Amino acid sequence: MRLWLLDILACPADGCKHYPLKLSIFEWEGDDASRILKARESYAKGNVENVKRELKDSVKIDRDKGIVEDELVRSPMKVEDYVTAFKEKVDSIFKNVVVDETGASIQLLKAILDFKPPSVLDESFEKAIYITNWLAFKVNVQSGILVCDNCGRFYPILETIPHMLPDDLRNKKEDREFLLKWRKFIPKKILEAEGVA
Ligand SMILES: [Zn+2]
Repeated sequence: MRLWLLDILACPADGCKHYPLKLSIFEWEGDDASRILKARESYAKGNVENVKRELKDSVKIDRDKGIVEDELVRSPMKVEDYVTAFKEKVDSIFKNVVVDETGASIQLLKAILDFKPPSVLDESFEKAIYITNWLAFKVNVQSGILVCDNCGRFYPILETIPHMLPDDLRNKKEDREFLLKWRKFIPKKILEAEGVA
């Protein structure tokens, strides 16, 4: 699951539909954990060249005109408006990552959440836009869990796919296998409610 999905995923349970959901990451796909650590290291040194290359044309920054077009906010915007939209997206995506059990994204998440965008497009803001788009769109959660704070239901992420099904369509056997496999990372409340404690 790409992290940007946190911006749109809501609880599918009838009578709940709560948004946003909370994500805990158990493992990253392929070599994404090391890619994240490398990106973080380069970003700390002020270098986002690799990240920029991977994003290709999905992020366009016109410094002269003061216009930003990216995947996060989606429509091209003057930087004055983009600042607000950017902050909203950062909050609705990255604030809902509650745990990364691999540790790989912790520092980068903190750097993104701590970044205070200025009202003009300077170099620090441009770099933050690139790294934020990259973390939201270019890495994939292999296994994890989405939890609804409203009703307490959980939704497994299996082989990068979040299984967002209402109660009557859930696969009880698959749920149980998932909880047993990852029990050391699953909140106790959920294990107890599902009888896996
Ligand atoms: Zn819910």
